[in-house]
Formats: sequence, C-alpha cells, structure tokens
Amino acid sequence: MRNSDIVPELRREQPLSWDRTYGRGMTEHRYRGRDRDRDKDRDGDRDRDGDRVRDKDRDGDRDKDRDRDGDRDRDRDRVRDKDRDGNRVRDRSRDSGRDIDIDREVLWLSFPLLDQSGLVVNGFSTRIGGVSEGVCASMNLSFSRGDDPAAVSENFRRISAAMGFSPEQIVCSDQTHTTNVRRVGKEHCGSGVVRERVWKDVDGMITDEPGVVLATFYADCVPLYFVDPVHRAIGLSHSGWRGTVNGMGAVTLQKMKAEFGTRPEEVLAAVGPSICQSCYEVSEDVIEQFRNRFPANLQELLYYRKENGKYQLNLWEANRQLLLSSGIREEHLQISGLCTCCNPHVLFSHRASHGRRGNLGAFLMLQGSERESREAHTAPANPRPERRQ
Ligand SMILES: [Zn+2]
Repeated sequence: MRNSDIVPELRREQPLSWDRTYGRGMTEHRYRGRDRDRDKDRDGDRDRDGDRVRDKDRDGDRDKDRDRDGDRDRDRDRVRDKDRDGNRVRDRSRDSGRDIDIDREVLWLSFPLLDQSGLVVNGFSTRIGGVSEGVCASMNLSFSRGDDPAAVSENFRRISAAMGFSPEQIVCSDQTHTTNVRRVGKEHCGSGVVRERVWKDVDGMITDEPGVVLATFYADCVPLYFVDPVHRAIGLSHSGWRGTVNGMGAVTLQKMKAEFGTRPEEVLAAVGPSICQSCYEVSEDVIEQFRNRFPANLQELLYYRKENGKYQLNLWEANRQLLLSSGIREEHLQISGLCTCCNPHVLFSHRASHGRRGNLGAFLMLQGSERESREAHTAPANPRPERRQ
C-alpha cells in the first residue's frame, strides 16, 4: 500500500461525527469569502478579478468587520447587482460564482459556552476552506510541516477572516509538550504568522489585552480554553498526554491567578477537539504516569486495559478531572465531544494519517472597546433599499 492510500482525503461534505458520551459541545460555522465583493464595494469595479484578495485583510478595521457581518453585506450586494445593472444573471456568469464558490467556504467551530460570555472570540479550525494540497489539504496552519509557506499564509488569512480578526493580531505558541505558559500582549501580535516568534518552548499563553489573538495548534492533542470574565483575561493551552499528566490546565490557571488575580471558580473553560478514548491506544509506560498523577478513585474513568496489554486513554476525562480539581465549576466547563481521529476527512489527525498531516488551530481573543468601536464604525451608513421581487 502506498502512503497516499492511507492518508484520509479531505471530504468537504462529510458531516462531523460527535462523541456519544460527551455530545455536541460546539457550534459549526460556515464562512464564505466575499473578497471580490468587498473590493468591488470599495472600488466600484464590478469586473475586477479575484487576485487582489490576498491583500484584503491588511487594509484595516473596515474590512475585518465586514467579514463578521458577511450575510448582510452579501444581501446588500445582491440588491446592488439588480439595482445597478438590472441583469443579475449576466453578472453571475461574468463573475463566476463569487458568492456560491464552495471552494472558498471555511468550516470552523466555536464553544457556545464561551460565545455566550460575550467577552471573547473563540474558534477551532477544520481542514475545510484553505488552499494547501496533498496531506495538508486544505486549511493547514503550520509553516513547519513541509507545506508551501504562501499557502499557509493564505490559510491564516482565510481563517482569520472567517473568525473576525486579522493575521496581524495572532500570537502563536511554540509547542514542545512543556507546561510553559507565557503572558503575551499587543507587542507580540503577528508572532509566528507575519513575523518570527521571539520564544521557544511555549505550550500555553495568557493575556488580558483585547485584540490579542492567542493561537495554538493541533492534530489529536487537547486544546484548553480559559476565559476569566471577572478580571477579563484569557488563556489557551496545548495539552497532549504529557501536558495532561503534567497538569497543563492547572498550570495555566495558576499563571492566570498570578498575573491577573484569576479565581478558578469564576473561569469558563473548554476542552477542544482532540483524540477520543476509543481512538487513543497507549502503552503501559504512559499509563504508569497517569497512575502516579491521578487519584486511585479516578483511574477507572481515565483508561482501561485491553487483552493485547495496551490501554485506551481518555484525555478528555483526564483534563476534565484536572480542571474540576483545580476549582473550575462543572457548569463552567464544556467538552467539545469532537474527535480528530474519528473525523479525519474534516479534521487533521496525527494518528489517522500516520503523521502525514497539517495542523488545526485553536484561537481565543478577548473582545474589548476596540471591537466595539470597529463595529460602530462599520454600521451601514445608508439604509438598505428593499429587495424587489
Ligand atoms: Zn475517536
């Protein structure tokens, strides 16, 4: 069998399969790029081709916020198409499928628990909606897995547009399975995307600055999201089995406490898409560490032994127990219920692809006065004409 035969192909229309026990903990979002519409809006040039898209999100706040309100913009443009030309059909063919171009659609996920706080933008990417090819198809967010850097940059641009920020706001981890958590701020924005990172070995980041987008990367390991609504601070951590057994979730909370005065009982937390227990076979040496780390009465929840001498390890439950014992309240904790390895046609999975894969991204940003002002800035200046017929 050739290697390419065993790498799961991207399947755009494959529905996500959610875990039976943990359920559907996230909301699916589908974003369709409308860059050409936006350029036309600005330039009044209806026939311009799509290549200018690449620069779009570098142009500042106006554009960023238009993405957020995409449906409204699209509707408005449809109306314009008819109003100006009175010949919508011809426009459509000339401008081939600009708002029905499924290849541009970005599928991403968010936690309702965090959305409902009204304080953050939170998201997790999928494979869908990028431009990378082969085993990185299509939304690969890693510059270090052999992918074309131009494609990765374009992918960052697309996922940023979908979630409502810009690549220049992103601050990337440098994940090496440590429990190092770093406080970051505006001065670090763009690190790992549009400029070099100045750090090494950072698996978690925290901030209390609005507009700073924390970003960590995955293909089976566990993303941990933290939102402190009282002190208006956030944290995002990468917790594989090593991070989990070394208490990455607890370490992140401790760092938030030290830096911002965070109290765990007030924190909203979420465990992102990652490998489920059924998919995660590990050997005795891994289990030995979990035995030593977790109390005896929890062992049964965390793993079971099989006839072949291997174990199935539940990283979701291990992180859940870790967070609860750190003081997170049960009602403040959401498990995604989405396994990367059960969904390899939509999500990157190291196990399912035998290591031939790209990276997914977890993103978390505090909203603040900046966003409010941006939203105010992009409110429609003129009432939209009623759509005729
Ligand atoms: Zn699974």
